Parts: sequence; structure tokens; C-alpha cells
Amino acid sequence: MASLKRILVTGGAGFLGAHLCRRLVEQGHDVICLDNFFTSQKSNIAPLLSHPNFELIRHDITLPIFLEVDEIYNLACPAAPGHYQFNPIKTMKTSVLGSIIVLGMAKRCRAKVLQASTSEVYGDPEIQPQPETYRGAVNPIGPRACYDEGKRAAETLFMDYHRRNGVNVRIARIFNTYGPQMHPYDGRVISNFIRQALQGEDLTVFGDGSQTRSFCYRDDLVEGLIRLMAAPDDLVGPVNLGNPDEFTIGQLAELVLELTGSASRTVSRPLPEDDPMRRRPDITLAKTRLDWVPKVALREGLLRTIEWFRTLDLAQYRPPTPLY
Ligand code: NAD
Ligand code: UDP
Repeated sequence: MASLKRILVTGGAGFLGAHLCRRLVEQGHDVICLDNFFTSQKSNIAPLLSHPNFELIRHDITLPIFLEVDEIYNLACPAAPGHYQFNPIKTMKTSVLGSIIVLGMAKRCRAKVLQASTSEVYGDPEIQPQPETYRGAVNPIGPRACYDEGKRAAETLFMDYHRRNGVNVRIARIFNTYGPQMHPYDGRVISNFIRQALQGEDLTVFGDGSQTRSFCYRDDLVEGLIRLMAAPDDLVGPVNLGNPDEFTIGQLAELVLELTGSASRTVSRPLPEDDPMRRRPDITLAKTRLDWVPKVALREGLLRTIEWFRTLDLAQYRPPTPLY
């Protein structure tokens, strides 16, 4: 049996963090979930609260905290464009100061620390698909920069703590991920389309819908994070984690309408500034080093997500920031 560890998950109440906490508690680890609940709510982790191996700390990761742990997954950061653009300076602080705090903790405790980075470090990419060696095309002064550049600076900090201080780090570059427990008002495309379809509202397609994304199901992604944390120490990363099946946003809208059986229609809205036109991961590295490939196809994952959205009482959810 794998040795049991004390594991900190920052952003552990969020969409990905809550599922990661569940998986780690199931494996028998002692899990500390740290979150300030900016974009999440306690209901995501409610079933874990009574578990003896689970502990919740309400805390902002930009402020110092002392904990003794063996591993840290650093997920604290708003991830949806509407959320991270709401208070861009805070977003940058969360990535940069948050990384400094978890890296300092990892250095002091000799803990292993994994950073949830993003495909956004590639910006609006000029090559397709994007391998980890691609350096990206990010606008440093645009509305998405607080997130993109914050995550790039975090990667820099992780690599410098690794090279200078010997901290055992991992960097995962996560591509668009969806699934049950997404915040229904996070403004991301899948949650928007499903919510709109189920409520009989028009599906808001930004631009002409020809831009692409490659959508990974939550469970596949979290499995990739756990494998990366367990990988041999030379696999610092960055490692792309995502589903390479690429769809246009127009195709996604049609699929959601088909799978929900909704009579809604699509309506065009302006394309947000700097919206990347294409995005698809090259996952050769994750395949060869982690023996990881996503198993859940978009159609199947959407069906599971739609089923979860149908059970929701939307009145229980407060939009963290104004909707698009
Ligand atoms: P999410 O918004 O659901 O979760 C983020 C969590 O971090 C929330 O619970 C939020 O309250 C918390 N948080 C935010 N700022 C904080 C702070 N200062 N201190 C403490 N907690 C704070 O988003 P998610 O989709 O679960 O994303 C998790 C991580 O994965 C993020 O770092 C994100 O950048 C990264 N990521 C996600 C995706 C995706 O498609 N879901 C893609 C790329 C990268
Ligand atoms: N999008 C859309 N309608 C929406 C929300 C988003 O057409 O209601 C588009 C958005 O312009 C982008 C893609 O869907 O091209 C993915 O957006 P999301 O916010 O989910 O994630 P991103 O990859 O842009 O961070």
C-alpha cells in the first residue's frame, strides 16, 4: 500500500480541488483543504466535512500560513475569465504571492509541491497542437494578462525554487476542464451552455463560434494531477494535461442542444478581447511519462455533466462575479 501522507490542497473547495480532495481522502491520506471561497462554496466539500481525514481551513493564500505537510497541490486561483478579470490585481497576487507562500512552506517542510498552471501560458497560440516546449504568445497588457502572466510568473517561481533551493516541484499545464460541480454561474462556456439550454434560454456563442477548445473531463484531469505528483522526481514538468479532441464552440453549442433535447437557439455575442482562436494540447509527454490518456469523450462527459446540472437548485448558487 502506498504510504499515507499529509496533503494540503489550496483552492480545495473549487471545481477541481473538491474532486481532488475526495480522491485523496478515499486513498486514506490526511487532507487539508485551504480556500477563501471566492469562487466556490462549502457545498462542494460538505460530504467530506465529517470525515476524520479531512480538515477545512478558510484562509487567503496570499497571506502567510504555517502548516506541516508532505505534499501540496496549489490550485488556489480563480480560473474562469469573468472571475479572474473581476479583480485582476488580486488574481495576479494570488498566483504570485500564493506561489511564494506554498513554495516557502514546501522548502521548510521538504514537501513536494504541484502547481496548477494552465494552457493560458500559451496565450493565443501560433502553433497547433501546443507542446510544452512552445513558449507562447501572450499579450502582457490585455484583460487576460492578470491570469496568463500570473501563471507564467508562478511557473518561474516554481523553477527557481527548484533550481536554487532544491524544492521538489511539479508543474501541470491544465487545458479546459469541465464536469459535475462546475460553478453554474462561472461564465465558462460549458456551464453557460448547459445552464442556458436547461432553462430554455439562448446559448450565447461569442464571435462566430469558429474558435476551438479541447475539453477534458474532470475525473481524467484529476487522475493526471495525482499521477504527476507520484511521478519520479526528474519529471518536474511542465506537463500538458488535457483532452486533445478539438471542437469549435459552434459544434459544442450544437452538441449541448442535442444532448439536453433543448428547444433553445444560439445567439451571437461579441468575441472577448484576446480570446484565443485555437487550443489543443500535445500530450505526448503525459502519455509516455505518466501513462496517462483521457478516457472520457466529450459526448459522455457532457451527458454526465448535464445530469448533474439537472439536479441543481440554482437558487443555492450566488454568482461570484457579475455574469458576462
Ligand atoms: P475554481 O474557481 O472552481 O477553484 C479555485 C478555488 O480557489 C476556489 O475554491 C476559490 O475560492 C479558491 N481561491 C481563489 N483565490 C484564492 C485565494 N486567494 N486564497 C485561497 N483560495 C482561493 O477553479 P478550478 O477550475 O477548480 O481551477 C483550479 C485550478 O486549476 C486553478 O488554479 C486554475 O487556474 C487551474 N486551471 C483550471 C482549468 C479548468 O479548465 N478548470 C484550466 C487550467 C488551469
Ligand atoms: N464562450 C462562448 N460563450 C459563452 C462563454 C464562452 O462562446 O457563454 C467562448 C469563449 O469566447 C471562448 C470559449 O468559449 O472562446 C471558452 O471560453 P471559457 O470562458 O470557457 O474558457 P477560456 O478557454 O476562454 O478560458
